[in-house]
Amino acid sequence: MTTLEPALLALLHGKLRVYYELTEQLGRAPKQIEFALQREEQYRQKLAATSANLQDLKLKSKEKQNDLAAREAQVKKMQLQQDGAANNREYAMLGDTIKATIAANEVLGDELLELLERCDEVADKEKQATSVLEQACQETAETKTKIAETTRRLERDLTDTEAELVELLKKIPDDLRGELIRKRPSMREKTVAPVDDGACSSCWQLVSPQTRSALSMKHAVNCPGCGALLYLPPA
Ligand SMILES: [Zn+2]
Repeated sequence: MTTLEPALLALLHGKLRVYYELTEQLGRAPKQIEFALQREEQYRQKLAATSANLQDLKLKSKEKQNDLAAREAQVKKMQLQQDGAANNREYAMLGDTIKATIAANEVLGDELLELLERCDEVADKEKQATSVLEQACQETAETKTKIAETTRRLERDLTDTEAELVELLKKIPDDLRGELIRKRPSMREKTVAPVDDGACSSCWQLVSPQTRSALSMKHAVNCPGCGALLYLPPA
């Protein structure tokens, strides 16, 4: 019967936990960059929408300005016509049209002022959106640098931990080592599990008294529930 030192299994269990925790961290690292890029994209879209709005307002202002200029020219032309009016009736008729056009032009002028004010407001918003986007881009760059450092550190730690695991596994008898290596990819840190409060700490199935006594004699026993190699935590 193969006997196993619980202290060795405890070390193996601890190292496996470290290894897979590092793996999780390494997996999460790129998500932080993804998140920063998504945020950046939202700000970029907001800026694009604000810029499009500003372009639209500027175009409308320009159109209104041209319209107003044309109508003002029309007023001047009618005033000249009025000066050369053939009779009082024609003079009065032109006078009415001039008055009406001037009144309409005043309304246009007010609308133009409103449009120009709106342009200023949106131009301010565009400036804000630009600076928010710049800030986000800078933050993305910082995140990328930070994550690259973290990733390098995690990869180094993983390599070291794997080397330590290999050394620990060398101390396990051959037949059991092969089994642990086969189970490891699917069972990860649960390949080896301490008995905790009378149960397998990997699947929480209760450990039978026979199993417990076999474990106390340092026999190799797998949990019937999950297949983890069990051990009694050393006191
Ligand atoms: Zn189990």
